[in-house]
Amino acid sequence: MKVDQIGEFGLIARVAESFRDLIPSGYRGIGDDCAVIPIGGGRSMVVTADMLVEGSHFLMDDITAWDLGYKSMAVNTSDIAAMGAKPTAAFLSIALTEGCSVEWCEQFFEGIHAHGVPLLGGDTTKSKHGIVINITVLGEASDDHLKYRSSASVSDCILVTAPLGDSAAGLRAILSKIDRKSDTVERLISAHYHPRSYLSEGLWLGTRGEVHAMMDISDGVASDLRHILRLSQVGAKVELSSIPLSDDLHRVCSAHEWNPLELALCGGEDYALLLTADPIGVEQLKADYRAQFGADLYQIGVITKEDGLVWTNHGQEQGLSFAGFSHF
Ligand code: ADP
Ligand code: MG
Repeated sequence: MKVDQIGEFGLIARVAESFRDLIPSGYRGIGDDCAVIPIGGGRSMVVTADMLVEGSHFLMDDITAWDLGYKSMAVNTSDIAAMGAKPTAAFLSIALTEGCSVEWCEQFFEGIHAHGVPLLGGDTTKSKHGIVINITVLGEASDDHLKYRSSASVSDCILVTAPLGDSAAGLRAILSKIDRKSDTVERLISAHYHPRSYLSEGLWLGTRGEVHAMMDISDGVASDLRHILRLSQVGAKVELSSIPLSDDLHRVCSAHEWNPLELALCGGEDYALLLTADPIGVEQLKADYRAQFGADLYQIGVITKEDGLVWTNHGQEQGLSFAGFSHF
């Protein structure tokens, strides 16, 4: 059987099952944004690892070394933020291709350094077919502040921390080689190459009891929300007219006849946070968030008792003709 027959998540589910017998009690393994290892005193260490492969995740002749370093680290710190934790250390393994310059490596490591997370080790080797980068980041949090994908409750509001789809539009702009001279296209490409981290927001949301489940958006809400639904054994209704979209996204989509909702829901790599919150406390949560960060939490739907993810448009059920990202 080929991996694409069971998909990325089918394979991960099999791996998780086969290691279940080795997971110590109190540990949380495969399935969330980070693994959780208790360290005593009511605190836990969280751990995440993410890999970027030349040709699949980035094009060497397009991305700068600094941006590549920055992004490689950002995709990991985003998983730490999604747990409500703070990053404490990083390990970096890199396979470099023949002829890679020292100057390129210096720029790359500067991009990593910009996150302010201590790099404590890693591995360096050579690759015959493209650069491969794997970063492992460790973080720490109080057990009371950790947020899991499995904690959504029926009637919870579903929220996101940012407009969605800019990164996917940036990627489409790069791949379709459209003119980059406009500020709009530049900003979208920058959203793709230089994703912002929601670390302060994640830490703060971790302290809030109204927040139940949380994860970061790496594959698009259409795919990522399903993880929360499956692990929390609930369903959801998401209102398409409430999906936050930036002016830049609207502009580039109308210029090129792209579907903004497809980019926002299925494009992925926004690295915004997706969370569910108690409906009773949600208005206070939004107001406090606005006071703290000068930004909005955007409400996009509700958690339901019925299985499955239902899309509505101004309250009317509507099917989606596109799906979330999968590596296989
Ligand atoms: P994220 O997008 O948040 O990084 P993924 O969708 O990549 O999460 O992975 C989902 C879960 O599967 C995570 O808990 C991750 O650690 C785990 N996982 C992914 N690939 C593997 C693997 N090859 N071996 C063990 N665990 C894996
Ligand atoms: Mg994640």
